[in-house]
Amino acid sequence: MPNTAEALWRHASATPDRVALLGGGDVWTYRELRDRVAAVAGHLREVGVRPGDRVLLVAPSVPEFVGAYYGVHAVGAIAVTANTMSTGPELEHIGTDAGVVFVLSWDGVGQAPGRAAEALGVPCLPLVPGLVGFDRGGAVETPPATPADATAAILYTSGTTGRPKGAQLTHGNLEASGAILRASHGITAADRGATALPLFHVYGQACVMNVAMQAGASLALLARFEPSAMLSLLRETEPTFLAGVPTMWNALLHAAGAGGAGEFAGLRHASSGGASLPAEVMRAFEERFGCAILEAYGLTETCGAATYQDPGRPYKPGHVGIPLPGCAIAIRDEGGADLPAGEVGEVHISGPVVMKGYWNRPDATAEVLRDGWLRTGDLGTLDADGDLRIVDRKKDMMIRGGYNVYPSEVEEVLYGHPDIVEAAVVSVPDDHYGEEVAAVITLRPGAELATEDLRAWAKERLSAYKVPHLVAVVDELPKGPTGKILKRAIDRTVFSR
Ligand code: ATP
Repeated sequence: MPNTAEALWRHASATPDRVALLGGGDVWTYRELRDRVAAVAGHLREVGVRPGDRVLLVAPSVPEFVGAYYGVHAVGAIAVTANTMSTGPELEHIGTDAGVVFVLSWDGVGQAPGRAAEALGVPCLPLVPGLVGFDRGGAVETPPATPADATAAILYTSGTTGRPKGAQLTHGNLEASGAILRASHGITAADRGATALPLFHVYGQACVMNVAMQAGASLALLARFEPSAMLSLLRETEPTFLAGVPTMWNALLHAAGAGGAGEFAGLRHASSGGASLPAEVMRAFEERFGCAILEAYGLTETCGAATYQDPGRPYKPGHVGIPLPGCAIAIRDEGGADLPAGEVGEVHISGPVVMKGYWNRPDATAEVLRDGWLRTGDLGTLDADGDLRIVDRKKDMMIRGGYNVYPSEVEEVLYGHPDIVEAAVVSVPDDHYGEEVAAVITLRPGAELATEDLRAWAKERLSAYKVPHLVAVVDELPKGPTGKILKRAIDRTVFSR
């Protein structure tokens, strides 16, 4: 009978003065966090929110997000966490799909949540610093015991197909994922984490916030990733672990400039996920920050992480680790048959971190969940030791003149070029080859790179059919909420032939 909020009551009794959260210029102890969570829950109960009801939460990574999220859980309700950049109509779609009965919205987010609440005909309560104002119904004494398969959070993801679907993560999923990640990364109450990941996304929410709060550790939050602000946070809070996506490590590296690794001596590890981590970024980061980047892989549908790097085993470059304890990974062909080690097929995951299903979408659920196994839409291989390598997303693979091209392999090579800061490889329709390999890159300030020179450089490292034929240099690449490069938002008209 787990309830994710229950740990906060335990920590508030055992270590009331330990710092739970830092962010937005504020510091919250575990006692303060528990009191605010209890007040939010009491208020929600008073206005009629019942166990199983859906509450839409729209807030950036500030302590108030954490207080509101666990407040929803502490009344037995379900937190539907949405991107702070969502428009009114987008929130209205989510709200209608999930049948939300209440909206909690961070004051600084703008008008969209209020407008959506109005259209949905439900109340919208602003979240203000310190969560003041939640005193309507008296505090909740303790979170209710909740069945393990009760949904705790719904996170909307477009994943590999069509319109956004609400992945339902249960209290059991989040408890299991938190416990496994704590044990496998050795995170305890003595740790201090720091992240700029959005907490409305699964990575920040399940793999960082939930892990830190379940452990009784401290977590420093940055509401918007900005490399120099992140560096200041690292210097001020001296974290023991970090979590982010590859674009953040890359940007931090460029912002940190030269300096001794000893500067960040307390850092034990940085976990990376969401997209493939270029080997060059990993190497340079380790050298500059003096700690390993542990690359993991997972999806919203698996509470974020499904693999990890076991410190007892040698790191295998290009691999995303082995299945988390209690989870299993299989590589299957189109017909669902298991493939032998080394062969590329679709990655399937099973274990306690796999979601219950998509909210209200039995059709979409049946497409990806079968016999306890989740079809991920990613292509990968398992080697003889069980280490997973992600080749690419199934939908991103292109076929140029009959040959398969995996964009991530080409990107990996481009990241090795000394003038390139970021790279995304996409497919552009081509009359002759069907699809053509196209690269969009950003360069170091002041650098210039002619397309022919880049092609010549890539040709030394890649088979001819993988070499980007089209190259566009841009100032910035479009990014999603975690900072992951959004390939579907890349303007294909930038390519001149
Ligand atoms: P959206 O909902 O916006 O479409 P998404 O499809 O990226 O987002 P997420 O659940 O956020 O959904 O991300 C999961 C995907 O991220 C995985 O299916 C995989 O393609 C990619 N991914 C995650 N970790 C890694 C990694 N370490 N290496 C390569 N790809 C990764």
